[in-house]
Amino acid sequence: GAADGEYDMLVLGAGPGGYSGAFRAADLGMKTVIVERFSTLGGVCLNVGCIPSKALLHTTAVLDETRHMAEHGITFAEPQIDIDKLRGYKEKVIGKLTGGLAGMAKARKVEVVQGVGTFVDPHHLSVALADGGTRVLKFKQAIIAAGSSVVNLPFIPQDPRIVDSTGALELRFIPKKMLIIGGGIIGLEMGSVYSSLGARLDVVEMMDGLMQGADRDLVKVWQKMNEHRFDNIMLKTKTVAVEAKEDGIWVTFEGDKAPKEPQRYDMVLVAAGRAPNGKKIGAENAGVVVTDRGFIPVDKQMRTNVPHIFAIGDLVGQPMLAHKAVHEAHVAAEVAHGEKAYFDAKVIPGVAYTDPEVAWVGMTEEQCKAQGVKYEKGVFPWAASGRAIANGRDEGFTKLIFDANTHQIIGGGIVGTHAGDLIGEVCLAIEMGADAVDIGKTIHPHPTLGESVGLAAEAFEGSCTDLP
Ligand code: FAD
Repeated sequence: GAADGEYDMLVLGAGPGGYSGAFRAADLGMKTVIVERFSTLGGVCLNVGCIPSKALLHTTAVLDETRHMAEHGITFAEPQIDIDKLRGYKEKVIGKLTGGLAGMAKARKVEVVQGVGTFVDPHHLSVALADGGTRVLKFKQAIIAAGSSVVNLPFIPQDPRIVDSTGALELRFIPKKMLIIGGGIIGLEMGSVYSSLGARLDVVEMMDGLMQGADRDLVKVWQKMNEHRFDNIMLKTKTVAVEAKEDGIWVTFEGDKAPKEPQRYDMVLVAAGRAPNGKKIGAENAGVVVTDRGFIPVDKQMRTNVPHIFAIGDLVGQPMLAHKAVHEAHVAAEVAHGEKAYFDAKVIPGVAYTDPEVAWVGMTEEQCKAQGVKYEKGVFPWAASGRAIANGRDEGFTKLIFDANTHQIIGGGIVGTHAGDLIGEVCLAIEMGADAVDIGKTIHPHPTLGESVGLAAEAFEGSCTDLP
């Protein structure tokens, strides 16, 4: 136990990494304090990330679906959009979750200190308290979980019509014409929301494709279903100037296929990536190494170079995803408690919660080719899925990637409605070292979209002449 006024465990930052680490530490009997600058727990994910974006994506996907119901024989009146009420719904969703976290912290006797924390030395953190004054907290061990922040492009002026993901989630107005700078998951999710609410979209991306990281065959299906939202998809294009004028935001592009003249927009969403907060917490005072880019290097037990200080989540590296942060947090807390825990996840799934959703995990075909890994694949097109057809959404497919020699599963990708929910089974199969026969012979319920995972494995087996 800790001496008077000393904590066994101090956690800096209350995102999914921070609160998960603090709760696990407290459950293991450690006297725990969590320091967070904002008034609610939950970090980026609950307050301005995963959760609010999904609340809006769900609502707008339903809105889109009603527009297709005429083909099913049901006609609705033209939808009335009350943006204030929609914002209110999103706030309510956040409130339920952050309120729940506050209750869980209290139940575990995790002390929450609100303010901005800075390390003073390897055992003290000074907090500039939100309600004035400072407090120095003494700790035996610590977990740094200070997360990441939006990357601001230097040439972009301050203007209420230019937003980052946080500003976009505030849902202040629906633009007629919107530009998304950065064709990654966050930009495309938020773009989808605004498009369903009435905005026309342009997107500009430096790379040669949207949703980098996922195999192109998956992205192609999403793109075909979403082309109607876009006036212009500008790939291999750079944004070089942004000017805020009275009649709109004027943006200049550079690239082979870029428009030669500046383009006018009512709203510009900057979604060009996120940067770790490692340099903003006085880590050097505690002797913790931070890279030039602001990441904190850790070992497989989530220890920094200072053995009693751990780091987790967005600020230890890619992928910057909530589910990675949570698992790392549990390892850090358990190791701090003296257990032999390690972060040894084989795979971390990625999901774009667009409509349709795009989900992938483990090796992609692109990675296999780049790394010279011999693979074979099993693909099940949803056009042959009873459930997908009944849902009127049979554009998707499920793809499993197998090691060519052992037929063990090494990756998978799904595009279609609920792909993010379906990919979990593929993650488990990879972690368990399952092969095509294991997956194909597992009885999946009929008729479900999940069936497509078993059927993709069967499709692969059927195509094999050399079953192991
Ligand atoms: P964070 O959530 O960033 O939390 C860090 C906390 O530390 C913050 O609350 C911050 O205020 C606090 N803090 C930082 N410095 C200090 C200091 N000096 N003193 C006190 N407090 C401090 N991920 C997914 O897995 N799925 C998704 O669907 C998804 N959607 C997203 C959508 C958007 C729009 C965005 C922006 C992100 C999304 N992410 C998603 C990413 C996800 O939000 C992050 O990976 C996750 O929040 C990282 O958790 P973390 O605990 O590392 O840090």
